[in-house]
Amino acid sequence: MAETITIRPPVGVSACLFDCPVRYNAKRFDAVGKLGRERAGFIFTPVCPECMAGLGVPREPIHLTGSGQEVLAGAAAVRDRHGHDVTERIIAGCEASIGALERAGVRAVILKEESPTCGLFKARIGKKRREQVTGSGVFGAMLRNKGWFLIPDKAFDSALTWWDWRRRLHAWLWLSDRPLQTNGELTDAWHVVKFIVQETDRPFADETGRALAGLPKNAPRELLEVQRVKILHALERPTTRARATQALWKTYANLKNHGKLDGVDLHDLTVNSPEVRRNVSAIAAELTALERVAFENDLLFGTSPVIFRDARRVRAREAETIEK
Ligand code: SF4
Repeated sequence: MAETITIRPPVGVSACLFDCPVRYNAKRFDAVGKLGRERAGFIFTPVCPECMAGLGVPREPIHLTGSGQEVLAGAAAVRDRHGHDVTERIIAGCEASIGALERAGVRAVILKEESPTCGLFKARIGKKRREQVTGSGVFGAMLRNKGWFLIPDKAFDSALTWWDWRRRLHAWLWLSDRPLQTNGELTDAWHVVKFIVQETDRPFADETGRALAGLPKNAPRELLEVQRVKILHALERPTTRARATQALWKTYANLKNHGKLDGVDLHDLTVNSPEVRRNVSAIAAELTALERVAFENDLLFGTSPVIFRDARRVRAREAETIEK
């Protein structure tokens, strides 16, 4: 049976991805709009650190002289087109944005890649458009230091990439909120999220299984927390199309072979084997449909073990279960 989140997760987002015309050239992207009805499953808090720095719209583009991490360490600077140093202002804008996110209860943020401020894995250094580092922008680096769940805007590239980021986000939030006092609580939580980690990083999943089995009896809380943090990091790793398709088929075949789908309303569910060629949208639709069938019938869909459902729908399902 899936674990359910019934409170809409608050999620921060680079404001320019939220259709706000705040880029240096007053342009915007409606990336979040691509989610369609799924938008209703989150409460978004858009922030623009460069606006909060007081740089205005439109403004001169800025660039880094090193990575965001180096800027925070005082080893690099942020400059505008004329070479003026705006480092302090940018840092103040990032801090103000984090303050707003904290007040909103945010622990997950969607970030605009290739921005010297919001970039997560890629930030541009130097004035030329082609110069990029693998490090973060200034805001991205600050957020990484906080240990939140960070989502690059490429999560919106396809229905499948978003499905993957969304299911790991839900699992991450669920695990980080679990009470963790005993070995048993950690092991139970691991059994809920381990299928995702087995799919995305099998060696780490095996290592974690051994580490949990080797914990001393009544392990101290700090030791349990160390394991929790490692698992949370593992949930940040994306899957691949091949792995997601394989996991989908394995779960579906398992449920079918054990008769768990007999007599169940499958709606329009069709799950194809990995050999069947189809596009990523079709794969995401199969995954989402199986999530729905699993939720409605109390079946474990380990590939996506934590889902958001409105509290009213959860109560309705519980009432149905009691009637049966
Ligand atoms: S990338 Fe970040 S700083 Fe740049 S416009 Fe978008 S929200 Fe503002």
